[in-house]
Amino acid sequence: MDPNSVNFVDLRQILGFLDQSSFLIASRASILSAWALNSKFCSLCGKAYSFNEAEGAFECSCNNAPNYPSISPCIITLIHDDDKILLGRSKFFPPNMYSTLAGFIEAGESAEEALIREVKEEVNVQVSDINYYSSQSWPFPAQLMLGYFCKYIEGEIALNDMELEDARWFNIKELPIIPPDTSISGQLIRSYIEDHSKL
Ligand SMILES: [Zn+2]
Repeated sequence: MDPNSVNFVDLRQILGFLDQSSFLIASRASILSAWALNSKFCSLCGKAYSFNEAEGAFECSCNNAPNYPSISPCIITLIHDDDKILLGRSKFFPPNMYSTLAGFIEAGESAEEALIREVKEEVNVQVSDINYYSSQSWPFPAQLMLGYFCKYIEGEIALNDMELEDARWFNIKELPIIPPDTSISGQLIRSYIEDHSKL
């Protein structure tokens, strides 16, 4: 293939057009290329890293410790209350798109603790009945999203931190634009609606 004929686009822009396996390949490529770009020098002694083919890691002769790609674990969660779900939007989203809430797991936290803390911080509500759904590699820049459902307990929505520009309850029959099925967020929402409609 002629590289000059290739049209590079931002992965985020084409999320909605990729199937699951193409997304996983693109996700891995994106994470690895960012890792290679940011792994030039040893942070202990400042010498240039070399690449250990057998290990698939960068290393330095000062300690020969392998430097693998670092992945940040995050929680992503659909908060539900019967036929209502709580979604939020960041100012970077396309107009009228709302999504599930997400956040980084901090040092020393379990995923469940991070979920309860993030939900409280971002929208001021209490949740329980945390149920694992599935996980997904998310290359913006290098997260592992752990997806959960959780049940609303109490609290009025208030945007406590600056992460979201809006958050509100939506009836599952009157949803705004939601993320595509390529993303775990879209999967969580569609899966909840499907299961709920069977009740
Ligand atoms: Zn070194």
